[in-house]
Order: sequence, then structure tokens, then C-alpha cells
Amino acid sequence: MKKQTAGRDALGEFAPKFAQLNDDVLFGEVWSREEQLSARDRSLITVTALMAQGLTDTSFQHHLMAAKQNGITRSEIAEILTHAAFYAGWPKAWAAFRMAKEIWAEDAGDEKQAHQNRMVFPIGDPNDGFAQYFTGQSYLAPLSTSQMGIFNVTFEPGCRNNWHIHQADKGGGQILVCVAGRGYYQEWGKEPQELHPGDIVNIAPGVKHWHGAAPDSWFSHLAVEVPGENGHSEWCEPVTEEDYKKLR
Ligand code: MN
Repeated sequence: MKKQTAGRDALGEFAPKFAQLNDDVLFGEVWSREEQLSARDRSLITVTALMAQGLTDTSFQHHLMAAKQNGITRSEIAEILTHAAFYAGWPKAWAAFRMAKEIWAEDAGDEKQAHQNRMVFPIGDPNDGFAQYFTGQSYLAPLSTSQMGIFNVTFEPGCRNNWHIHQADKGGGQILVCVAGRGYYQEWGKEPQELHPGDIVNIAPGVKHWHGAAPDSWFSHLAVEVPGENGHSEWCEPVTEEDYKKLR
């Protein structure tokens, strides 16, 4: 967190001790203890506490903007205020929503854009060419089409590909490089494996598997096609709702 000077700026002359406590203790020592509790969680607590008091003034606006900066999404703040409304009071939620709606206006429900903002590679176009082998909506962005194929594959929440096998007479297989969101990889007969940005999955040729998003998260991975002789994908049955529902 950047050095806080709001107290000194506003009250340094009038109340220097208050200014110092605000800047150095509240923000310098408490807010900055991110190892104990993340800035995002601290924002959640602060916004809820201010709303509970009906304090929807400029300081509330400041804390909503900080909450957004600390990673609370548009859908999350809507959920937080809805939940808090039952405990803090309905009219207080109305007042808070008026302000939150403005601050998260630019995100206007565009979860696809929000996912793109968290990733350096493009989402690309709807993956129509492979749609028949996917459940849900996926997108494909070719990054490298010479030497070795590298594609960024993006899955909407709940989207996954069918069970499939990367076949090759020699070499071949696939490497997944996870770049954004949260997803899953599962090999036939094994437990599903949760995937996060930075995770790498090496898929040997001949191994039956699927990959895709978590039920509640967008997910993108680079699919690296390992060169091989007569390499091709053999598509099998979809992952059943029953199996997919077991994920959380
Ligand atoms: Mn695969």
C-alpha cells in the first residue's frame, strides 16, 4: 500500500496527532499488515462497517474506490451489500448501492473484459471450430502458428472440453500453461486437479483427459502442441454434469 498522507493533508495543521495516528498507525501499521489479512479483506470489512453506520459520505466513496483497487469485483460488491443489507438495514444498502453503482460503472457486468484485464494474452474469437467438442462457451486466440502451435484457450465459467486424447505415432502430447482465472485438469481414472495462473500441466500422448474452467470462474490456459508424427486429437464423450458438479 502506498504511503498514506490523507490525514496530514487534511488535518496536519489543525490536529497533528490525529493526522499522525491516521496516516502512520491506521494505514501505516494496521492496513499494511497484509500477511495477517489481505487488503481486499480489510476493504470488505471497512465498507461493511461504514455502511452499517449509515456513513455513506465521501470517506465511504474513498473506501469503495479502494475496495475496487484491492480486487473486489462489481458482482462481489453487489453481493456484499445485499448480504449486509439484512444485518445493517435496507435503506443503508440503498444509499451504498447508489455510490457503488457509479464506482463500478465501467465494469458494467462485463466479466469477459474483467478477465481480459487480468491477462496479457488476448481472449480471441469464439472457438466455433471446436464448439462441438466443448460444453459451454470457449474462445481461441492463436499466438504461434509456425514452428510450434501455441493457442490461448479461454473458458467461460462452467465451460470445459470433452474427454480427449492427443494421439501421435512419435512425440506429441500437449502442455498447458495456466495464465488467468481458475480451472481444472483431470486424467481418466484420477482425481481432478485445480489449476491456477502459473501452473503447468504436461499431458503425455495417449492419455485421456479434459480441461476447463471452474464452475464459478473464467479460466485461460495456453495450449502448447508438442510436435510429433501424425499428431491429432481424438475426441470422446463430454464430461458429465454429475462429474463436473463434484468440483468446487
Ligand atoms: Mn488436451
